Amino acid sequence: MRDPIPLETENGLYLTELELFLDSRRSRENGFVSHAHADHFGRHENILCSEPTAHLLKTRYNVADERLNPHPFHEPLEVGPFRLQLLPAGHIYGSAMLHVTRKADGESLLYTGDFKVHHSLTAEEPVFRRADTLVMETTFGAPKWVFPGENEITGMILNFVNQCLEEGVVPALLAYSLGKAQEVQAILTRSGIPAVSHPAVAKMTAACREAGCQLPEPLTFEGTVPGGHALICPPNVMRSEEYRAIPNLRTAILSGWALDTNATYRFGVDAAFPLSDHADFPGLLDAVRRVNPRRVATIHGYAREFSSELRRQNYEAWSVDGGDQMELDLQR
Ligand SMILES: [Zn+2]
Repeated sequence: MRDPIPLETENGLYLTELELFLDSRRSRENGFVSHAHADHFGRHENILCSEPTAHLLKTRYNVADERLNPHPFHEPLEVGPFRLQLLPAGHIYGSAMLHVTRKADGESLLYTGDFKVHHSLTAEEPVFRRADTLVMETTFGAPKWVFPGENEITGMILNFVNQCLEEGVVPALLAYSLGKAQEVQAILTRSGIPAVSHPAVAKMTAACREAGCQLPEPLTFEGTVPGGHALICPPNVMRSEEYRAIPNLRTAILSGWALDTNATYRFGVDAAFPLSDHADFPGLLDAVRRVNPRRVATIHGYAREFSSELRRQNYEAWSVDGGDQMELDLQR
């Protein structure tokens, strides 16, 4: 049996032999940034990322060019005794997984970052590659999180929007400014429904377009929503006077957490639709099957529950943040 590729987890995810941190929020010398969401980004001296992510990091966080080392998807990158490869993660546009192979013996590791298995209109189709060690996010890693199919979710959103427009009400779709907002823009565009976007959304949509994503030029919200248009904005702006003052507004949150029965109450919205940019529980299991690893480390969300599920399925699995020990002891 080959030795695993060493991964330290006490102080962020760290590939010791590559001297490379994975999605560290603290600034480091060398960091892989899987995608341009704030909780995966640190201002590292050398940032390894995909080409679209490099553009998004520049636009979103003013990252200087000299810090960025963008690398094309799929193309091997030789680093000393290792071969690296960025694979599309399907989470948001530009999101990447990192596959590492030790050339001497073929031992491999796949770090997923955030990923999605279901088809998306804006993110690249995810590509899973076999690896001996799988380090995966498990945001929705409990059996109750099963999202409806893509067509069903799209249908729910379009029904809501069309009904609002028929009644002369403004449909406000609340979605994170990078990722979900572009996905819902694409859903509306495909159905010929125009939308105006909060400036933060419009900026990210424009940046995704510049990076190569197929999206229409965004229309920026300037105080009024023209008739027949939907409004796309980040969830938090609904607390602002300007947005609360829009007459005849009906709000819908787009989030995987919408499956929670209290979602409309919790988010303070009229409707909630489970459009997620993460894998659901069956999607996570599907990813594990496709990667076919010998060992799995889980991180984020239901990490402990999911690692426990994997152990029931005879995988060697543990959660990065710990807490598995008690159960492991009991099983012995
Ligand atoms: Zn993310």
